[in-house]
Amino acid sequence: MQTQLYVHFPFCRSKCAYCALFSRTDADAAFRLRYAKAVARLVESLDFAPETIYFGGGTPSFSFAEAAAAPLAGCGAREFTVELNPADATPAEAARLLACGADRASMGVQSFDDSVLRAMGRAHTAAQAAAAFRTLKREGFANAGIDLIAGWPGQGAESWIDGVKRAIDLEPQHVSAYSLIREAGTRLDAALAESGAEPPAAEALDRVAAADALLSSAGYVRYEVSNWAKPGFECLHNMNVWRGADYLGAGAGAFSRMGALRWRTAPDAEAFVRAAESGAEPPRTEEETCGAEEDAVSREIFMLRTREGFDPRAAARRRPVLAGRVAEWEGVLENSERAGLLARRGGAFSPTPRGFEVVDSILAGLV
Ligand code: SF4
Repeated sequence: MQTQLYVHFPFCRSKCAYCALFSRTDADAAFRLRYAKAVARLVESLDFAPETIYFGGGTPSFSFAEAAAAPLAGCGAREFTVELNPADATPAEAARLLACGADRASMGVQSFDDSVLRAMGRAHTAAQAAAAFRTLKREGFANAGIDLIAGWPGQGAESWIDGVKRAIDLEPQHVSAYSLIREAGTRLDAALAESGAEPPAAEALDRVAAADALLSSAGYVRYEVSNWAKPGFECLHNMNVWRGADYLGAGAGAFSRMGALRWRTAPDAEAFVRAAESGAEPPRTEEETCGAEEDAVSREIFMLRTREGFDPRAAARRRPVLAGRVAEWEGVLENSERAGLLARRGGAFSPTPRGFEVVDSILAGLV
């Protein structure tokens, strides 16, 4: 597999209540453009042609993403995804992103319930999100997805199910439904701490199960714990990362895995821009070199989260350093199979509907 390219745009119009991603809301347009040009310089200097490109954030569509993408024109990537916020999905923005080579859009809608959107601190209503998604499709994004968050405190089952149905009515090629995670340092975390409540984890699982039923009957296939797609529209970038490919993360706060090296570009947009403008390497944090076995494990086992599944013997054939782990792994996986959490096709184990709910704990047993 070739290397995948991820670009992080750490700018947002406002900070959502649940979000702990590195992003800033105080950057003016001039700085956001300097940042995009800094990304372009870095991308120009790459010594590989990326197999997939993923512009995430933050809010790429608020960040002059087309300026960052200029050097990627004609690079031959098999997929080029851009995350968009409904507030930015205008015909002009869609045209700019398509012109710079993007061929896949991922829109963070999160909910189709206006009271939930307000509580989340989202800058759009459900009607605006639906209109924005239609704009993307009309302007030429033939591959577009919708992201939702399951398990928002106080959101009832009826509201959630209505939201999933409204998403399906918009005919996206891809739907993600992530269970809400309580992240330290967010407004949600502070509110929960004050009330002494916890996010309703069991409810989130019920909501995801309800989404799965609706999406499956509408022709979507659950190909990963939180992701559904019409056949042929799975996110290739994410699949390649789960299959163990190298990825380079460009931009402040982005993570990279290149060979045995792992690092995070420092979450400091000014430092990133200064470095790029002076032709220096952006500063790194959390840099480490993995041992051969640790590297191989981290590139193989996450396929257990997918419908394609994890095949310990095939993994060991690809990476002989894992040969000594096969018997132990098969023992763990067969236990989960007996418990009805995993199904086996050939040598590959993949989650059953119940298994999707607990796959992370099965994974913990493999590490
Ligand atoms: S959820 Fe998205 S739009 Fe909201 S603050 Fe986080 S990165 Fe920005």
